Amino acid sequence: MKGKCLCGEVRFSIDDQYSHIYQCHCSLCRQVSGSSSNSSLIVAQEHFHWLCGVSLISSFVKSTGYRSDFCSRCGCPAPNSMKNGNDIWVPVGLLYEHKPLKVVAHLCTESKAQWDTISEHGAQFKSMPELRDLYHVLDDK
Ligand SMILES: [Zn+2]
Ligand SMILES: [Zn+2]
Repeated sequence: MKGKCLCGEVRFSIDDQYSHIYQCHCSLCRQVSGSSSNSSLIVAQEHFHWLCGVSLISSFVKSTGYRSDFCSRCGCPAPNSMKNGNDIWVPVGLLYEHKPLKVVAHLCTESKAQWDTISEHGAQFKSMPELRDLYHVLDDK
C-alpha cells in the first residue's frame, strides 16, 4: 500500500497484510482531521517504510501527550511513531493505493460531535480503550 501527503513531498509504503482500520471521534481527532473523526491504521515498524520527505515532518505535542505530526509544507497529517516504540500510526486518508480496508472500531463515541452519525459496523468504545483491547479488534490474522 502507498501513501502521500497533500503536496506529495512525504511518501511512504506499507506491507500489504493490513486491512482493519479504526475511527476516533474524540474532540482532538476532530480538530486534527477537521472532520467528524480520523481514520487510522496501526502498522508494525518493520512493515512501514518511509520513501521520502521525513525531514519535512513537524510535530506538535499537547501537554497531555496527544501528538500530531504533519507535513510542514502542506499541513497534511503524517504518520508518527506510537509511544510503545513498536508501531506507527498512519492516517488512512493518505493512502492512494491500497487493498480493501474495513472500519472495525469506533473510539470515543461518547464524545462524538452532535452532527456525527456513527455507522453500526464495527466495535464501539465509549472512550479510549486500553491499547491491547484496540489491538485485539484490529488484529486481522
Ligand atoms: Zn505535504
Ligand atoms: Zn481521538
